[in-house]
Amino acid sequence: MTDRNDDLFSAARAVIPGGVNSPVRAYGSVGGTPRFLASAKGATVTDAAGREYVDLVASWGPALLGHAQPEVVAAVQDAAARGLSFGAPTEGEVELAALIADRVRFGDIRPIERVRLVSTGTEATMTAIRLARGATGRDLLVKFAGHYHGHSDGLLAEAGSGVATLALPGSAGVPAPIAAQTLVIRYNDPEALDAVFAEHGQRIAAVIVEASAANMGVVPPRPGFNRLIADTAHAHGALMILDEVLTGFRVHPAGFWGLQAAAGEDYLPDIITFGKVVGGGMPLAALGGRAEVMDLLAPLGPVYQAGTLSGNPLSVAAGLATLRLATPEVYATVDAAATRVATALDTALSDAGVTHAVASAGNLFSASFRASIPRDYAEAQAQQSFRYSAFFHAMREHGVALPPSVFEAWFLTAAHGEDELQRIEAALAFAARAAADA
Ligand code: PMP
Repeated sequence: MTDRNDDLFSAARAVIPGGVNSPVRAYGSVGGTPRFLASAKGATVTDAAGREYVDLVASWGPALLGHAQPEVVAAVQDAAARGLSFGAPTEGEVELAALIADRVRFGDIRPIERVRLVSTGTEATMTAIRLARGATGRDLLVKFAGHYHGHSDGLLAEAGSGVATLALPGSAGVPAPIAAQTLVIRYNDPEALDAVFAEHGQRIAAVIVEASAANMGVVPPRPGFNRLIADTAHAHGALMILDEVLTGFRVHPAGFWGLQAAAGEDYLPDIITFGKVVGGGMPLAALGGRAEVMDLLAPLGPVYQAGTLSGNPLSVAAGLATLRLATPEVYATVDAAATRVATALDTALSDAGVTHAVASAGNLFSASFRASIPRDYAEAQAQQSFRYSAFFHAMREHGVALPPSVFEAWFLTAAHGEDELQRIEAALAFAARAAADA
């Protein structure tokens, strides 16, 4: 039986490659017809056929407060009434940049003195890398296998997210000389880090790392690994780019860096990238760092970066409203909901006799179908990922929308209340049995 989603998917495929504007949305690894969403409110989304789901995707992270939070929507509506885009500086941008710099701190340690706003996480990491190259006069970039930093040329080698879901080694269309500027090493492996610097130390501009890997499923950094990256890079005159596009303002007011600093692992990244929550669901991302590095950007310095829609007033309004509403109580609520669902997930899979491990990084978590939490990309891939397809569809049949890939984190919001959490818990029992039978 076809429904409105099937009809729309057929129509979409006739005009949009694969029917989607971002690959993982196509359900390539779980199979079936993607749900075309018509609306979202609080903790739920509604598809084109009118079916409602408790949402564990949260637009892949941004919806920290829940969908269409009334004060955020009102802020965007007010901004829209004053003009959609100016291509000129605005007061709101200054407030948002100051708020980002102020919030990302631990005691007196403040890694961000200057902020530039861009429109997507891809732009933020791309600019951060150019900046690191401009600052050091070096070309090489070190990244970790299974980490995703957006879709710019140099960052798709052994990347996570859709690249992992589709089991691609990288992307066609990236010139070999550009790919050769990226050195991919194993995550959570101090020896690999030592080795790459021993061999290429004088030529490495930066190491880029997800603050916690979460695009090959959640794979938390080993204790001390992020600090080791900072120390090793700095000892060789290279920069550390900490990618908090997914984790920033989601796992803690000061990001995963703030969580780690509070737990005693302090280190000083040179550039931090943000996206998702910082734009409250509108296209906005940012990079920040100390003045000496950031002021190398044009118009002050020789590193070029620009954008017609950078700092768009609607996006800035959404970001400001979201960050102002993201109080410690909001984080406590999201953390508690995440702990509850992660625990229920673990229990349901155990009860159904499914080999699994649930990994978390702050309030982000995911399950992998293997006996232990993966430490790197090879281990993340070595799991019975076929079980996720059955699990995913059973959850959906019971009214819960999960990310359509085992290589993605699950996202709770402050709008997930008792009713939604109970609906998730009820669905988990069915889904775990479906995974067992797969
Ligand atoms: N970095 C990380 C860690 C991400 O998770 C993502 C997107 N999921 C990006 C960068 C790219 O952001 P965008 O999709 O906004 O370009």
